[in-house]
Amino acid sequence: MRIALLGAPGAGKGTQAARICEEFGLKHMSSGDILRAEKAAGTPAGIKIKQYMDAGQLVPDELTLSLMREHIQKIEKGFVLDGFPRTLVQAQALNRMLFELDRPLNLVLNFDVPLEALARRFSGRRICPTCQAVYHIESLPPKVAGKCDHDGTALIIRADDKPEVVQQRLSTYKETMDPILAYYKKLGCLKTVDATGSIDSVTKATIEKIKRHFED
Ligand code: AMP
Repeated sequence: MRIALLGAPGAGKGTQAARICEEFGLKHMSSGDILRAEKAAGTPAGIKIKQYMDAGQLVPDELTLSLMREHIQKIEKGFVLDGFPRTLVQAQALNRMLFELDRPLNLVLNFDVPLEALARRFSGRRICPTCQAVYHIESLPPKVAGKCDHDGTALIIRADDKPEVVQQRLSTYKETMDPILAYYKKLGCLKTVDATGSIDSVTKATIEKIKRHFED
């Protein structure tokens, strides 16, 4: 199974990707996590990444692609891409990269949520700066308020989840996603998941859709 998840920031891709990987034994590849790790390492690339990320802008394609290529080449099993590709250039480059590795994508899932519903999701999102686990104060609270379930670290609001940055990220998303959806539709591997329900109901629908797709 080689799956890519598309959807607006806050549509739940990260949470669902982790659950899909657990269900089917796949490797979770989040471009956001990979870019954040590089930023935290403070490398020359990381310093550049920080400028874009903290402003809610996409990291330039060339930089994103070289990091993703490095990680994708190392995967030895099925995978779920989360947050990548985010531009048509990335989608086309990914296609070439996977074709060369003889491991093309066999499913692209678009997590569909009306943009108006997303701002509410962002305002409650909290993350663990140590292990990157994601929580939501209403829909996915940690066992102890403000603390990570895995390592007890104090949870934080991501710099790019601040309201003014969220608006920027959503408008960037709208501009770039339509051509990507058209691209995958043409390739014939695109399916849509209604991601407006509860996290558990979206997981159930997603897993059923994946099973059906790979049984056909
Ligand atoms: P995410 O964790 O997927 O919401 O991504 C957080 C931020 O990382 C985005 O706002 C971008 O600045 C950057 N980012 C993540 N994935 C990509 C990508 N595929 N291309 C460019 N920038 C990305």
